[in-house]
Amino acid sequence: MSEVSIEDLTVFAKKKGFVYPSNEIYGGFAGFYDYGPLGVELKNNLKSNWWKTFVQNRDDIFGIDGSIISSKKIWEASGHLTSFADLIVECSKCKNNHRADHLIEDKLAMNVEGLDANALNKLIKDNNIKCPDCKSSLKEIKSFNLMFPVQVGTSKDNIAYLRGETAQLIFSVFKNVVDSSRVKLPFGIAQIGKAFRNEISPRNFLFRTREFEQMEIEYFIRPKEKKCPLLSKRQLQLEFQFLSEQDQVKKRKHKKVKMSSLINKKLLGEWHAYWLAESYLWFIDLGIKEKNLRIREHTKQELSHYSLGTFDIDYNFPFGWKELYGNANRGQYDLKQHMKFSGKSMEIFDEQTKQRLIPKVIEPSFGVDRAFLTFLYDAYESDKKGGNVVLKLNSQIAPIKIAVFPLVNKLDEHALKVYLMLKKDFVCKWDRSGSIGRRYARADEIGIPYTITYDFDSLDDKSVTIRDRDTTKQIRVKIEDLKKVLCKLLKGEKFEKQGKLIK
Ligand SMILES: [Zn+2]
Repeated sequence: MSEVSIEDLTVFAKKKGFVYPSNEIYGGFAGFYDYGPLGVELKNNLKSNWWKTFVQNRDDIFGIDGSIISSKKIWEASGHLTSFADLIVECSKCKNNHRADHLIEDKLAMNVEGLDANALNKLIKDNNIKCPDCKSSLKEIKSFNLMFPVQVGTSKDNIAYLRGETAQLIFSVFKNVVDSSRVKLPFGIAQIGKAFRNEISPRNFLFRTREFEQMEIEYFIRPKEKKCPLLSKRQLQLEFQFLSEQDQVKKRKHKKVKMSSLINKKLLGEWHAYWLAESYLWFIDLGIKEKNLRIREHTKQELSHYSLGTFDIDYNFPFGWKELYGNANRGQYDLKQHMKFSGKSMEIFDEQTKQRLIPKVIEPSFGVDRAFLTFLYDAYESDKKGGNVVLKLNSQIAPIKIAVFPLVNKLDEHALKVYLMLKKDFVCKWDRSGSIGRRYARADEIGIPYTITYDFDSLDDKSVTIRDRDTTKQIRVKIEDLKKVLCKLLKGEKFEKQGKLIK
């Protein structure tokens, strides 16, 4: 675990222009955040990398961008208006509402996920849990729906909803994509976009907010299809920390397993395993440390109303192991519900079996803001002595890729030429103030992977020094080769091989 607390990370993110509390000049607005100049770059890099990996690099996934405000009918069909709720308790004196599960988890340090209102009521009574704000007694538990209603047009009766998840826009547009894009099973529809939940107690910085962004795929397969031809050797041999339902029932810790062994034990189907592995590897390939990740099976009592089986990827946050990503087997639930409520067929003709069928759905669901928080936290390293922070972000997602420095201000004119040349192709930063050490430190702190210094020797040898953020090693490279070399470095090629190593 990184040594930084979530409070310190929040302060750092604000100070450096990654993330600010929203509406701060008006005293803040709980559960909402604004992304700053560096934050928007990092967030966009995450989203475009995801889109490239899961949509553009594949032939079987189609992208959409659905509307955010959506008809009440969609959310009736999906079950969100009845089932998408948290259990809350009101204080008998100060009237503040609290999320029942959080209250109990905080007081008793136990996991109560999936317990019903009766069980939670009993825990509150048995343990004499009081209002955390005024210490008075609490009323009976009530259900609180998390959907955000909005009025559309002039009629107060015309109530629509901010979408509670991006997934339902994919299901409601399913037939249009099938009819317009010549799709063949198996295939997926992907979307990146905002979603909204009226959380009772938003907390832990970007982890639980009221407005957030999702990156989701609904992947459609034949209902009886068991084999997944896409499963690769790397995915089958993937080893990770795993917490099964049984481990949780028996209060055991997670242990290392291979994906192939979970398939052999029939803990999950091949398609489900494929998407779990594919998603896990996306995090790993972008630099998240394996020791901070685990895969957790949902227990029966916590399964969502639409799911036949869910596996999360959890991250070891400063506030404990929490969900970073969810992968549900939604079966035929959503398409059947929309077929029933809309009266429109959701069947698709399958060329292989020569029949019309309603596909089954596997859903890999990523939270953009949670991924952002995870990458930021995982990359954060500080030496306790000097208080210097190095943000070891993977170069593919780092907000700024390169910084250019003149060794002294006398060399400004020459160094500026190098900067302007690189700026056309890379996100670059120019920095001429303070000692060179101070400039390195500033670049490290915001995660710039490579810094370039133009010195007096550069005037003669037409070369510059490139410094690697993570090792602080330096190489000398000809200015005319600079673009080519930087392209290779940003693709992850070995630093020492790209130029003459400076001892
Ligand atoms: Zn109270």
